[in-house]
Amino acid sequence: MDKVRKVYSLRFRLFAIFLAVSFLPLGFFSMTVAVFIRDYYLSDREGELRRRAHVIEGAIRQGNFLTDSERAPLFAEEIGSIYAGDDFRVLAIDSRAIVVHDSNFIENGATFLSPEVLEALSGSTVSSIQDDGVTMYTAVPIFDSEYNVVNGALLLVSSIVDIYELLGSIQQMLMLLLLATAIIILVVVFFISEIILSPLKKIMRVVTLMSEGHLNQRIGLSGRDEFAQLATAFNRMNDELEQVEKTREEFVSNVSHELKTPLSAMKVLSESLLLQDGVAEEIYKDFLKDISSEIDRMDMIVNDLLTLVKFDQRDMPLMLTQIDLNQLTEDILRRLYPLAEVKNIELLHEDVRKVAIAGDEMKLGLALSNLVENGIKYTSEGGNVKVTVDADHQNTFITISDTGIGIAEDELGKIFTRFYRVDKTRDRDTGGTGLGLAISYSAVRLHNGSIRVSSKEGAGSTFVVRIPLQLNV
Ligand code: ADP
Repeated sequence: MDKVRKVYSLRFRLFAIFLAVSFLPLGFFSMTVAVFIRDYYLSDREGELRRRAHVIEGAIRQGNFLTDSERAPLFAEEIGSIYAGDDFRVLAIDSRAIVVHDSNFIENGATFLSPEVLEALSGSTVSSIQDDGVTMYTAVPIFDSEYNVVNGALLLVSSIVDIYELLGSIQQMLMLLLLATAIIILVVVFFISEIILSPLKKIMRVVTLMSEGHLNQRIGLSGRDEFAQLATAFNRMNDELEQVEKTREEFVSNVSHELKTPLSAMKVLSESLLLQDGVAEEIYKDFLKDISSEIDRMDMIVNDLLTLVKFDQRDMPLMLTQIDLNQLTEDILRRLYPLAEVKNIELLHEDVRKVAIAGDEMKLGLALSNLVENGIKYTSEGGNVKVTVDADHQNTFITISDTGIGIAEDELGKIFTRFYRVDKTRDRDTGGTGLGLAISYSAVRLHNGSIRVSSKEGAGSTFVVRIPLQLNV
């Protein structure tokens, strides 16, 4: 229900916006046109009435109908023909404001004191619309033949209803235009909102499904518009989410498996001791030694896991110090020398140049030491492991190469994965947890660096650690 309301509210808002955008100028235009037409017709009518009034006034003046009492009775007869057929009423008023002649024969002899008449009697021509809104008065002074004295006033009373009727029909047409516009807008908005809403509904459906726990959803939207781009980005995000979920599941199952193996070994060892009576002390000691080494292994795994978890916390600050990389390498090699000596492996150290960088010494030390230790672990007796420290103007490169067993090409991409070991049984015998490279990778990534590996099976491996000289973390 909520969803439906939202969808419709978008449609409604679009409709309101379109309506406002088109109605405001259209309404303004209609009003301006109506006012313009009204003013045009009114001033046209006013001009026409004044023209007619002056013609009649001229005839009255020349015929002396106001000043010569003998001629007054001839007024209608002689002047009437001038305005016969006109649809206005004519009132001739003398200087005392008494109606001498009314073409409607109503006000004859009455006093007519309208403001227009008074103004005309004082010598001005005036037009005005009466309070009823549909009657126009036009009054002109009636002069004597020398234009010196105002002998009276001529008042034309005209109906302007026809102008308002015309205006009414124009307004009606404008209203029809507005109505037609509204209908067109309604249709246009309907189609536009369909274009917008149909992909939106698709996206919403998928998001709803996902929020209900059905995670493996994809939005099927073709095209190149913003919605299609959103769908592509959404699908990519879902791919990544799925990958993260898969990696997490794998990781949990790997952790359980890795911890289960030493536990099972310990259980077998302890049970076999328990089931036998009178076991010799040496056998006890042997079994306990095995149990102890399994505990060491579990301890190693847990420690490595804790290290990884710590490195994964992106907001964990790096303990930055100035590191002399040549010195760090020297220290690592010295520490690992006993391990190499056992296998008669030569440890070589080449300083192409002196390099110092700002970094977290503990983490970088761990990353490099894991790589050198791997070199020793996966190199047979008599081989060598060489560490080279070099830099260009942007990066430092620490290269660890060995003459060991190498890594098959299709394994190269996987060795940084947690718990990944190329040869499960053999590598377990070498004492590895499968977490060393993952730790090195995390530590180097925390320094904005990278690790590249190249290898040839049977010939040896080379790991190149690149770290930017200018640390932007
Ligand atoms: P491990 O603790 O097993 O050494 P790592 O994460 O350090 O785990 O390495 C993952 C796997 O990559 C190893 O098990 C091994 O198979 C392979 N590997 C790592 N370094 C080398 C190397 N220098 N030479 C050959 N194989 C290596």
